[in-house]
Amino acid sequence: MTGLDLLAKTSRGLFIAGQWRESSTGARIEVHDPADDSVITDVADGSTDDAMAALDAAVAVQPEWAATAPRERGEILRRSFEAIMDQADDFAELISLEMGKTLAEAKGEVAYGAEFFRWFAEEAVRIHGRWMQAPAGGSRLLTIRKPVGPCLFITPWNFPLAMGTRKIGPAVAAGCTMIVKPAELTPLTMLALANVVAEAGLPAGVLNIVTTHNSKALSATLMADERLRKVSFTGSTPVGQVLVRQSADQLQRVSMELGGNAPFLVFEDADVAAAVDGAMIAKMRNMGEACTAANRFLVHESVAREFADLLGQRMGALTTGRGQTAGTDVGPLINADAVVSVGRLVTEAVDGGAELVTGGSAPDGPGHFYSPTVLLGVPAGARIVNEEIFGPVAPITTFTSDDEAIGLANATEYGLASYVYTRDLARTITLAESLEFGMVGVNTGLLSNPAAPFGGVKASGFGREGGFEGIDEYLDTTYVAIPV
Ligand code: ADP
Repeated sequence: MTGLDLLAKTSRGLFIAGQWRESSTGARIEVHDPADDSVITDVADGSTDDAMAALDAAVAVQPEWAATAPRERGEILRRSFEAIMDQADDFAELISLEMGKTLAEAKGEVAYGAEFFRWFAEEAVRIHGRWMQAPAGGSRLLTIRKPVGPCLFITPWNFPLAMGTRKIGPAVAAGCTMIVKPAELTPLTMLALANVVAEAGLPAGVLNIVTTHNSKALSATLMADERLRKVSFTGSTPVGQVLVRQSADQLQRVSMELGGNAPFLVFEDADVAAAVDGAMIAKMRNMGEACTAANRFLVHESVAREFADLLGQRMGALTTGRGQTAGTDVGPLINADAVVSVGRLVTEAVDGGAELVTGGSAPDGPGHFYSPTVLLGVPAGARIVNEEIFGPVAPITTFTSDDEAIGLANATEYGLASYVYTRDLARTITLAESLEFGMVGVNTGLLSNPAAPFGGVKASGFGREGGFEGIDEYLDTTYVAIPV
């Protein structure tokens, strides 16, 4: 079976209360292949009435679901993990088709995305409170962890599976019900996932999926309802700010995974060849369309030329093409706007004096391609190092001292991922303590791991996904005082 068969057996309706249904308006949204802009298929364009039906379903089963044995919730996740992995090639093809990434990268996403289900299957049975004596004696202090209640999940297009599973996994483990609103550009993978979790035994109404072109109306309607208790969002900072403001009226709990502007620091004592290997991953994973993508390469001036030339050779040798074609290293960007925006940032940097080491152009269409690009000597004030590029472009800025490097790295409103290459232990510790980022990769270009707490500070948001911390986002604490 190929991803197209998976697509053929996936309903393209709304998944509400365990049933597939049409949108109340009958409207549809087209889904495009970013490699050539052709229409793959269409999905239901859910209305606010549909969103409310999904919330009704989630609210109706919440008490019963919260009372389910933790082991049962864990086993559903575990079976879902196995089922995704059994169909890994099909999921990979579907992800590649709707999002553009290569099959190899899509397989990586499937393994990563499924792993959240295995991890949280194991966490479901480790939810516990505490029992302690009051400091003054005479009383026992107990805590109980309870699911927060019905949740709304809004996910982006860059990881159509994993951005969903890392919210669904902990929510299922904690005993929450949910409504998922996948990105309108890449809704198919989430619809395919609905069948998997239903077949794994997830009761009707626990997971509801509403696709829509009008996310704004959906979020405003659902968040105005006091029955919704939690919103978890992965996407851009401006939309995250809108959602946090919206959460104020009903005081919903919020988790926000927002934009990033990751620095990638290479010190004079680094293994430069290893740093280039790491840079290829930190920059080129997902064509640079990741919030963890290295956005600024800060390199000590003594190794900058060597680093730039080696990175330029590696980037220049990559083959750009359709993600499903054998031999493709770099797929298309998500849409035409993305190509224009990346191209503008590069042109401005070159006009501002940066040296173009490789790339710097968009191949002729069809499809939304941009060639892997390396820029050297990018001034620290350039727009390309202050905005999220979300494309295959590596701008290199040089520094001369550790203090300057740390100052440059922290000079951003964002604080999600950061990467450092050095062989000096004391410097590593100083960097880990001084960098204002939720994550620091030391001599590695890959941070994401379902067992680790993923998340940011400052304009990159708050809350953690994965790790032991991930499930806390879905649990409330009740304190019980018992005088003895
Ligand atoms: P990106 O740049 O990755 O597309 P967005 O923040 O625009 O980031 O989109 C991420 C997700 O947020 C998508 O599912 C999108 O449909 C949704 N979204 C966009 N605007 C809103 C909004 N006002 N309310 C709720 N969701 C929104």
